[in-house]
Amino acid sequence: MRRPFIAGNWKMYKTLSEARAFAEQFKEIYVKNDIRVAVCAPYTHLAVLCEAFKGTGIAVGAQNMHFEDEGAFTGEVSANVLKEIGVLYCIIGHSERRQYFAETDESVNKKLHKAFEKGLLPILCIGETLAEREAGKEHDVVRGQLTADLQGLSCSQIAELTIAYEPIWAIGTGKTATPQQANEMCGFIRDVIEELYDDKAACEVTVQYGGSVKPSNATEIMNMEEIDGALVGGASLNPFDFLEIINF
Ligand code: 13P
Repeated sequence: MRRPFIAGNWKMYKTLSEARAFAEQFKEIYVKNDIRVAVCAPYTHLAVLCEAFKGTGIAVGAQNMHFEDEGAFTGEVSANVLKEIGVLYCIIGHSERRQYFAETDESVNKKLHKAFEKGLLPILCIGETLAEREAGKEHDVVRGQLTADLQGLSCSQIAELTIAYEPIWAIGTGKTATPQQANEMCGFIRDVIEELYDDKAACEVTVQYGGSVKPSNATEIMNMEEIDGALVGGASLNPFDFLEIINF
């Protein structure tokens, strides 16, 4: 049985002192229930957040990682480092990394393998651009990303995987996919997982929607049958907005 999973992606927002202030406020208002909750923050804030959220049921995630254990990779952070400080999740293949930092399906695939090997739970981001949707190619794009990104992963790893469907045209634009569009694509993602793996994997994989999720649209999105959760950017920066989304 899939549990709803709401994750915040802070992107490159908040200083360390702002992160501390968020954690203090959020801990005061958050009441643990059976929804999985995670905050994915900049690297420099992760150890502090892991410490602050200890025992609260709020998990901490990174926004990227390298696919090697260690080495001469200036500026990169390994899964070992994340694991040691208590990070549980790692966003992999966010469209902003694909667009601005030359992330490819090949590196995404290597990162997914490494994350599982090290016991981190990946949140794989996929989704089409506006031009691709307007050309009617959104299903081909999503199928292509899934096929390339998941290569070599096992059924049991897929059961632990979260896939965030984030149409690029809906990220940070205030333009949300309609709940029906989001639901349709999340269902399609499950169908592709069934083709590539089996129906058990398709049933167990967690599928989130991401793109301008906010308190005013969270209920409708979360009530869609194929959508298990949300990956929330802007609205996760404010503890009260984030909580309202969690309490959809
Ligand atoms: P917004 O919620 O700000 O649109 O960002 C979505 C996103 O990219 C989450 O990873």
